Formats: sequence, C-alpha cells, structure tokens
Amino acid sequence: MNSFADELKHHLADLREQDLFRELRRVDSAQGRHIEIGGKIFLNFSSNDYLGLASHPALKEAAIHAIEKFGAGAGASRLICGSLAPFHELEEALANFKKTEAALTFSTGYAAALGAICALVGKDDVIVIDKLVHACIVDAAKLSGAKIRVFAHNDLDDLADKLKWADKLSKAGSEKQKVKNFIVTESIFSMDGDAAPLREIIKLKEKYGAWLMVDEAHATGIFGQKGRGLADALGVSEQIEIQMGTLGKALGASGGYICGSRLLINFLTNRARSFIFSTAPVPAAAAAATAGIKLAQSTTGDSLRAQLKRNASLFKSAIGSPQSVIASAIVPLILGDEAKAVAAAKKLRAQNIFVPAIRYPTVARGAARLRVTFTATHTDEDVAQLLATLKNLIQ
Ligand SMILES: *Cc1c(COP(=O)(O)O)cnc(C)c1O
Repeated sequence: MNSFADELKHHLADLREQDLFRELRRVDSAQGRHIEIGGKIFLNFSSNDYLGLASHPALKEAAIHAIEKFGAGAGASRLICGSLAPFHELEEALANFKKTEAALTFSTGYAAALGAICALVGKDDVIVIDKLVHACIVDAAKLSGAKIRVFAHNDLDDLADKLKWADKLSKAGSEKQKVKNFIVTESIFSMDGDAAPLREIIKLKEKYGAWLMVDEAHATGIFGQKGRGLADALGVSEQIEIQMGTLGKALGASGGYICGSRLLINFLTNRARSFIFSTAPVPAAAAAATAGIKLAQSTTGDSLRAQLKRNASLFKSAIGSPQSVIASAIVPLILGDEAKAVAAAKKLRAQNIFVPAIRYPTVARGAARLRVTFTATHTDEDVAQLLATLKNLIQ
C-alpha cells in the first residue's frame, strides 16, 4: 500500500517540478461569457461553447422536456434495451445537417473516434495521421493495432511520402487480405486554430486509394453554409468517407458523432465497440444536441457566427496575427516555457480573466501557450478588456 502511495507521490512531484501539474477549478455557475469560481466572477475565454448554446434557453428546454418524457437515464446500450426516440431524432437531424445518408451518435467525440477507427482498421492496415491530431485519434490508432505513420503538420509532401509507402505495402498484400490505407486529420486544429488543406489531402487520398476521416470538432457549427463545417465550406464533404465531430462544442450539448453512408453507419452499429458496449447517453443530452443543430442552422445561428468571427478578428488584428480566410475561434499565444504559460494564466486570473495554460501532453513540450477561445456571447468591450489586460501583463 505504501509503495503504491509513494509511487503516485513521486509522479505527482515530478509533474509539479516540470510545471505540468493540473488541477480542477470548481465553477459554481453555468458555462458562459462569465463563470464563477471561488465566489469571484471571471470573464471566460476558455470554453469551446463557440456559439454560446450550452446555456441557451432552447437547449435547456429541450433537455427538460426529454427528461420529463424519457427520464434521466437510458437504461442500457441502445442495442440491448431499445433505442430511445431522442437518439433517432438527433441522428436524423445530424444527417440532414451534414447532408449525409446517415449518422451514428456516441457518448463523446472521444468514444466516436475510438469506436470508428478500431472498427475500420486492424493490424494489417496502415493509418496515416497528422502530427497534431487530437489525443482520441492517437489513442484509437494505437488501440486499432494498425501500423501508424505520422505526417508533419499539414505537410502535403510528407503525407504523399507516407501514402506512397503505404500504397506499396498495400500492393504487396494478397488480394484476400488487402491492406487498407486510412488517413485521419482534423479540419480546424484544436490547439492552433489553423485549417487542414482538405482539397489537396483529398487529391492525394484519391491518387493513392486511401480512405479519409475528418474530425470537425472545432469547425462544426462555425464554418460552411449554416455551420455545416469546413468540408462543406470547401465543397468536399462528399469525398470524405467518414465525417466525425462532437456535439459538445459549438452545438452546445454533449456526445460525439460519425456521419457518412448508410453502409458505414450500419457497419459501425455492428462493430464499433465504444457504441455497442456502453450505456447510451442520457436522453436529455441527445435532445439538447438536436436543439443545438436546429439553432445552428437558423438565422440566429448566422448572427451568432457573425459575432463570433467579429470577436476573433478584432482580437487577431489587434495583436497583429495574420488574418487568414479561415478565421477560427481559437487563438494560441505561444509562450514556449511551461512555467511562463502557467504564470501568465495566473496573472490573468488575478485580473478576473480566465484563459487556460495549455501544456504537454496536450501540446508538445516547450510549446506551452495560452489558448484563447472566443464565443458569440463576447462583446467588443470583453475583447478590449482582454487585450488591455494582456498588454499590461505579457510584455
Ligand atoms: C474535443 C475534441 C474531441 C473529443 O470530443 P469530446 O466530445 O469532447 O469527447 C475530438 N477531437 C477533437 C479535435 C477535439 O477537439
């Protein structure tokens, strides 16, 4: 028992020494433009609730209504005790939103990545991932047992090299045991806010006969017509075999999804272990997500997106960051040193502004940063306050 405690203490002391120790901060309010921590109110630039839907009346009402009709819990896996109507309504709404034949929802985006990737590739296959993809994709790739190749972030030449190698392997395989080559990338990267060159990636995947999965966690609700995502904005949705994302960011609720062909969804319903062997999410979450999708596509959604883009671009032009065509809501202020990032976040908190310090293993060692995220609920004054505070603190 003692050696167990000693071992953990030792690891935690190590983390503290490297400024990598993390702790939870209890929030006593809803997520929103302001959050309350320890009796103090903070201006919040930390959330992925980009459109401010997490505490929108329409989502709350949908969740309450679902609880009243369907109860608090789901009972079992959807394949065991029957599949509650709110999940079917959600999947129909998602498929319409993403203009795909079908959709399948999971308890989280993390579970969606794990379930889909492990169902689709195995030890004889090759999975090629961008260096900066989210941990859930890395974990899924490892769990799948496939051969993993990592291409330099958004580097098409490196991707082509990896695909050439995989293609050779595939051609050497027997007809019966054909090797599958599978590319996974994000559309908007979670910690840098930059975009993947999806059109060019699609050209390469077609050239080398690979399949493509795109994680739109930070683009769904924000880019494309009615917030359909970056693939829609670039007109390439139909060439992506597997579209993945979360219901927990711009859509304001919780859960993960895969959108694609009816065949893909039938396959995953039978083979995605994180779907099959897990209790269905609470019906309230599904109902809230359906309301979030509806709102994202409405004229209200259009004005929320306009405000979000205005906030992010006000900030970016003030700090002299290049304004790309793809204006994401994520702005990293890279400080490098872990201790520096932690100290900067602490100083901001002392001024009642909440911005998270992002460190290893979320980003590479020595690439620690403040990750500023904007939402549609921020005002011009909020952005000005953040800028003034940053200017005074981080010279
Ligand atoms: C947040 C995130 C996920 C995971 O989604 P959850 O619903 O939070 O589990 C997956 N991919 C990316 C890129 C993310 O940022």
